[in-house]
Amino acid sequence: MEKIKMSTPLVEMDGDEMTRILWKMIKEELLLPYIDLKTEYYDLGLEYRNETNDQVTIDSAEATKKYGVAVKCATITPNAARMSEYHLKEMWKSPNGTIRAALDGTVFRTPIVVKGIEPCVKNWEKPITLARHAYGDVYKNTEIRVPGAGTAELVFTAQDGTQIRETIHQFTGAGIIQGIHNTDKSIESFAKACFNYALDTKQDLWFATKDTISKKYDHHFKDIFQDIYEKEYEEKFKAAGIEYFYTLIDDAVARVMKARGGFIWACKNYDGDVMSDMVSSAFGSLAMMTSVLVSPSGVYEYEAAHGTVQRHYYKHLKGEETSTNSVATIFAWTGALRKRGELDRNQELTAFADRLEKAVIQTIESGKMTKDLALITSLKDVTVLNSGDFIRAVRETFDSL
Ligand code: NAP
Ligand code: MG
Repeated sequence: MEKIKMSTPLVEMDGDEMTRILWKMIKEELLLPYIDLKTEYYDLGLEYRNETNDQVTIDSAEATKKYGVAVKCATITPNAARMSEYHLKEMWKSPNGTIRAALDGTVFRTPIVVKGIEPCVKNWEKPITLARHAYGDVYKNTEIRVPGAGTAELVFTAQDGTQIRETIHQFTGAGIIQGIHNTDKSIESFAKACFNYALDTKQDLWFATKDTISKKYDHHFKDIFQDIYEKEYEEKFKAAGIEYFYTLIDDAVARVMKARGGFIWACKNYDGDVMSDMVSSAFGSLAMMTSVLVSPSGVYEYEAAHGTVQRHYYKHLKGEETSTNSVATIFAWTGALRKRGELDRNQELTAFADRLEKAVIQTIESGKMTKDLALITSLKDVTVLNSGDFIRAVRETFDSL
């Protein structure tokens, strides 16, 4: 069989630990035998990030802007323990944070739904994609522990010196205060990324805040979304047969629990942090969750939602067998290849991505899976496979399709 050709390279960001091992196996077993794989390779493994003073991460983000599509392996975010483990020169920043900042992107997380791994919420028939605004609010706050009685004020000083001043509270005793912010630019980018992604995936978009209580702050999010929707997206949504729907956050939560799925739920930063953990755990497993960073200019970076699965890697280093789930990492590749195929009008590449995803799902539904899924599946007669054998089982299914 002739290999599928690619006209534009994908930006390939390699990573760390167990996912780095899976990365290599996925390429060797599932991609290279079928595709004349063109990638521009960046090694974001912690050793090379340290060697290049993290320049490689910045370069990979720039390459993503240039080519438009990247696929990323999970990477270590250094902490104190990693400083000594890897003899780091500095506690380098999270690569995901660096890339997100460079692309000004929004992260969309979607569970991979298979028969036999049922969501805890039994009416969820289709995936729910969570879009989290990843800038500002309580994540960039300023806090004061108020020691005793006094007046707390909110003051804004313009460049010309004029001031806006509001009293927060007249304290009669000790307490706490917090200042948070967001910017029109960041909220606009978030809104556009959400509208674009909804059009891209032909799904309804839900957005919710607490605008009844937060009449300026949260209400401004609602207004920006509505404004951009009416100016730039309403017609396109109608043509695509999809809907934009705004409601109060408490109403959204209640409706999500009763919904059948198949939509995108856009959340402010804190809501997205909390709700993405709820949605992903209710769908079954972090190892079955994909993640894509979409910039307002239409640049895409695909990855798995989980980390480098450190505990499994240490077992692997000791020569013990591992049963690590490669599904989300395979779907990062298929997501990127499909997007590359769409952009380059390369139907063979798009069809390959569809077929590989189908092979993964059929393999699991036939009862062959890794240990994490075997523990939660409702299927009987399950075969638990090790990391490599699962990938080889997917290849067998793929060849039989
Ligand atoms: P993790 O890699 O997500 O794994 C946590 C636990 O979840 C694992 O020990 C395992 O449970 C289970 N798990 C996650 N993915 C799995 C998979 N594919 N197959 C089977 N089980 C899976 O989180 P972590 O161990 O806390 O973090 C390790 C490193 O990842 C850290 O250095 C962190 O900085 C990094 N990280 C990177 C990203 C990213 O690049 N996007 C995201 C998160 C974390 P059992 O051990 O019970 O089997
Ligand atoms: Mg969280």
